[in-house]
Amino acid sequence: MRNRRKYSVANFKMNKTRSETVDFLDKLNSLIDTVPKTVLVVCPPITSLGAEFPVDKIWIGVQNINSNESGAYTGEVSIKMIDSHANFVILGHSERREYFNESNEEINKKLITVLKYKLEPILCIGETLKQRKNNEVQKTLKKQLSKCLQNVDSNVIIAYEPVWAIGTGETATSEIIVEAHQMIRNILNDIGFDGEKISILYGGSVNRNNAKELITLDDVDGFLIGGASLDVEHFYDIYKFIEESF
Ligand code: PEP
Repeated sequence: MRNRRKYSVANFKMNKTRSETVDFLDKLNSLIDTVPKTVLVVCPPITSLGAEFPVDKIWIGVQNINSNESGAYTGEVSIKMIDSHANFVILGHSERREYFNESNEEINKKLITVLKYKLEPILCIGETLKQRKNNEVQKTLKKQLSKCLQNVDSNVIIAYEPVWAIGTGETATSEIIVEAHQMIRNILNDIGFDGEKISILYGGSVNRNNAKELITLDDVDGFLIGGASLDVEHFYDIYKFIEESF
């Protein structure tokens, strides 16, 4: 029997002011009437950190950090600054790889910094449409995992997010997700981890219409949700499907 934690992670991206985040969390907190079995994480913009949140049932995460602990990096935020305000850090999101040229090597440095400060990284990996069409899924995932996890010996949460499914409304099929998640577990085994122990989330146009079916897939340990997480009732419905899947 599998013994992995399940997650429902909201990635607000560059959306919601501080007061909108507080309203969202207050509402979400009031909708949850039992102690969640699902690890429920909300990642607002960094400007929302430090506000009074109802965080007994909900964990807070951030969407990025700089790999350095301090220094002359104008406009950047270090782990020390978010340390007591968040428990999770999304790393390697495809939007950061694409728009901010984040390399696997840079993501690896960030990951090591996050682990040093005992926060939990959520490492995003996934292939582009071109890589899928060229039969390069395995090669891409292997490269991302082995480079991002170099010199890392603790288990980290992985989010499989095919780039072509993020924000496009085009969810990957169950077959594609199962195949990719199994591939990821095998690669993790090959590079020295115990793949069976690592939670792998799916991300890419998850919504309340597809979440119920996707969470029944054996290898799916929850979701990383962008667009659909901005509406609190929508996010709550997805969380409920995960909760009911235990
Ligand atoms: C994401 O931002 O990680 C994501 C999966 O976005 P969306 O759910 O909008 O596709």
